[in-house]
Amino acid sequence: MESVFNNLVFALEAWPETGQERDFALSPATLTELLASGKNLEQLPVVDQGENQSVIPKILTSMRGHIKLMLVGRKLKVKGFFAVKVELICARCLTPFVSRIDDKFDDLIKLREPGKNDLRGVDANQDLDQEGDDSAIVIRDGQSFDLAPLMAEFFWLAFPYKALCRDDCAGLCPRCGANLNEGPCYCPTQQPTKH
Ligand SMILES: [Zn+2]
Ligand SMILES: [Zn+2]
Repeated sequence: MESVFNNLVFALEAWPETGQERDFALSPATLTELLASGKNLEQLPVVDQGENQSVIPKILTSMRGHIKLMLVGRKLKVKGFFAVKVELICARCLTPFVSRIDDKFDDLIKLREPGKNDLRGVDANQDLDQEGDDSAIVIRDGQSFDLAPLMAEFFWLAFPYKALCRDDCAGLCPRCGANLNEGPCYCPTQQPTKH
């Protein structure tokens, strides 16, 4: 039986030429924390889940997937896929529904030493933003890096712009608020005027 890792920390030391790969499962708590601390949170496409909804959806299952890594010079080729179930609120009928967020990824991402820019008196994060290089992977302690924050970014990239329980959701009656997916309400319908 192959083991499933609950983290995405990889060591650069003794990096195999054939690369590294693993099955992973990030718990709902871990993913939620990553999403909450994500520096990109404010730059997100507007997640229209209706009013008064938390920006971060309720994570229902572990984020499961597979990742394969290859070193290409000072860059990292990151390839794989993930899937996770979340609870969304339909933007039209305001009903909670379960949605599966999944995606494949295949990216070449820069590896970056931390504090490289400190000499210039530039804050590392600020510098990242200026370069538009949000996805650079920071090497910790000169020897390892954590790809869990990157997975949180991939999650957002795969996130729907508008949460709908189904494409043809009928929404709520603007008059009485009835959920029109459950059938017509008793409001008088506007008949076209006949002359
Ligand atoms: Zn709906
Ligand atoms: Zn109505």
